[in-house]
Amino acid sequence: MVGYRECFRVFNNPNITVHFNTETVDVVSNTKGQMSGILLRKVDTGEESVLEAKGLFYGIGHSPNSQLLQGQVELDSSGYVIVEEGTAKTSVEGVFAAGDVQDHEWRQAVTAAGSGCIAALSVERYLVNNNLLIEFHQPQAEEPKKDLTDRDVQEGFDITCTKHKGQYALRKLYHESPRLICVLYTSPTCGPCRTLKPILGKVIDEFDENVHFVEIDIEEDPEIAEAAGIMGTPCVQFFKNKEMIRSAKF
Ligand SMILES: Cc1cc2nc3c(=O)[nH]c(=O)nc-3n(C[C@H](O)[C@H](O)[C@H](O)COP(=O)(O)OP(=O)(O)OC[C@H]3O[C@@H](n4cnc5c(N)ncnc54)[C@H](O)[C@@H]3O)c2cc1C
Repeated sequence: MVGYRECFRVFNNPNITVHFNTETVDVVSNTKGQMSGILLRKVDTGEESVLEAKGLFYGIGHSPNSQLLQGQVELDSSGYVIVEEGTAKTSVEGVFAAGDVQDHEWRQAVTAAGSGCIAALSVERYLVNNNLLIEFHQPQAEEPKKDLTDRDVQEGFDITCTKHKGQYALRKLYHESPRLICVLYTSPTCGPCRTLKPILGKVIDEFDENVHFVEIDIEEDPEIAEAAGIMGTPCVQFFKNKEMIRSAKF
């Protein structure tokens, strides 16, 4: 809805021409395929004309598409979903709103995305608090042979394997490996570690034979984690020729 002030500003701006009773029919292009104008049609007479223009920007109005929510959650007089200030909570418990449909002021991509994040986290909290969250886990895939288990480490360390576990392997590789060594520090309760590990695993597979990978569980090997200055997980360190090249905390 455009107010009196906005109309006044538009009519007093010499750079703006208002075409009343007119609709856009098509975009007209030049021989190079570039936009050169807009085909207009007078809705009262049907008369068509071409307006020269190099750009077209649609203003689609501010009526929220919230008809389907009418009578289900509280809407304001313009049809925007009413949310509790600073939250995504609607008038119905467990129903959260995000984006332009609940934002009568800013209506920008970034504010919509931000409120989407708030709504998503609110949903997660709601589900957890009400014991409604069911987690599904992928079945454990069989460990590939080149991933040494703890038992392998105890029974014998094989430097030709790319992936290793535990501080014994790390100490051996640190002194003996000519390759780049990638060390991932994890802890059993760390969610991001579970996300990062398979991603890093794929990267390591790509550089197989040029890199060694060691996973250190900081609860199993606290001494080496402390010696490496690990303050949290997941953390990745790269070593080459007994020197730390880079350390990254995620
Ligand atoms: C012409 C124009 C230019 C813009 N330029 C900018 C800009 O430069 N920068 C900027 O930050 N923002 C810009 N915006 C605003 C930005 O696009 C919006 O703020 C943003 O897209 C809002 O995101 P949203 O997810 O809330 O809604 P939308 O992107 O509108 O998504 C809502 C979705 O819901 C779907 N939907 C609606 N009803 C139903 C239904 N009943 N069932 C199923 N699906 C349904 C729609 O089809 C749509 O896909 C512009 C908007 C317009 C129109």
